[in-house]
Amino acid sequence: MEKERHIRIFDTTLRDGEQSPGVALSLDQKLEIAQALARLNVDIIEAGFPVSGPLEFEAVRRIATEVKGPIIAALARTHTLDIDQAAKALEGAEKPRIHVFTSASKVHLQYMLKRTEEEVLEMADRMVRYAKRYVDDVEFSAQDVMRADWDFVKRLYEVAVEAGATTINIPDTTGYGTPEEYGALIRRIRDEVVRGRDVVISTHTHDDLGLATANALAGVLNGAGQVECTINGIGERAGNTALEEVVMALYVRRDFYRAYTQVNTREIYRVSRLVERYTGMPVPPNKAIVGDNAFAHESGIHQDGVLKHRSTYEIMDAELIGRRPAVLVLGKHSGRAAFKKALEDLGYRDLPEEELKKLFARFKEIAEKKGPLSAEELQALVESEREPPPISSSWSTSSSSPAPASCPPPR
Ligand SMILES: [Zn+2]
Repeated sequence: MEKERHIRIFDTTLRDGEQSPGVALSLDQKLEIAQALARLNVDIIEAGFPVSGPLEFEAVRRIATEVKGPIIAALARTHTLDIDQAAKALEGAEKPRIHVFTSASKVHLQYMLKRTEEEVLEMADRMVRYAKRYVDDVEFSAQDVMRADWDFVKRLYEVAVEAGATTINIPDTTGYGTPEEYGALIRRIRDEVVRGRDVVISTHTHDDLGLATANALAGVLNGAGQVECTINGIGERAGNTALEEVVMALYVRRDFYRAYTQVNTREIYRVSRLVERYTGMPVPPNKAIVGDNAFAHESGIHQDGVLKHRSTYEIMDAELIGRRPAVLVLGKHSGRAAFKKALEDLGYRDLPEEELKKLFARFKEIAEKKGPLSAEELQALVESEREPPPISSSWSTSSSSPAPASCPPPR
């Protein structure tokens, strides 16, 4: 059987993710996120693009000096000044990586770089060699590969590998590719460019068509050994590949991908919330893995199943990513089994069948009007519907009833 492969997780929340419209992280926030990413045990943190400004430079410098564990990468165009600045910002890093990038598509060459193919090839060769004078670990990328001509793509990456690039990244910058095409591209890079040499192929996919994760995983299936991604999938336009989706897909479906990551999955939820808070980009409730509803069940049939055995409607435990166990939402779709369980959790055990029936009917009425009920609301409902308990005169005249002994915290 084929040996399982280690897939490196290259987090670019602080570089590509920070390019999300409207996001501007402070130096302290960047450092805190980088520390959280180190606890998450990602393999590489792309800390920023040092030449783009003094604040960015300082952020990369501080992260390189203070964050231990992962490789710290800095981005540079194919210019000596960019590479000098990246190298300088990375001076304090134990494991520095310079990430040199250019473009591959005709439209990028013509309108952005204003260079011919021959000029781009020559610069890529010279600048990868230049970066190698500073560090051994050099990554090379060409933007917009998906829309470029294969002959040029092949020559460009060939030049980068010959010049010493140890990782070659294949960006679908515009989110244009389909999983079949992107997978085939990665396979072609593996078979016609890398050809057994010790070079890691990396995926970099965007979510414009909602295919970022699918494309990255197609890359993994076809020989990629690194995935570039961001927490919560933040990034320009529709965003980058979501780290949590790729990591958990490889975890849950390790049998299929025959590949694994070294990410400490139990930190995922915490980092997701931190990035949500600092970037001000809210995670949608239905977002895979980290959304509020990702482990919530409301429909009666699902709740009944989950109460009997969680695996009936769940493919992974919430605890695995550092969340609280699955939540049964008590709403209009809920059934009697979940309702009874919720009452038991509140301390109302052994209620007579007749009373339970009455309470359930009342609960449905309320839930249909106002939506799901919290634990407190459920308790209030029970108390208002039940026979008033006999008042023992020597105690108090207060009409509030004591909380049941095992009242769980509100959900
Ligand atoms: Zn990108």
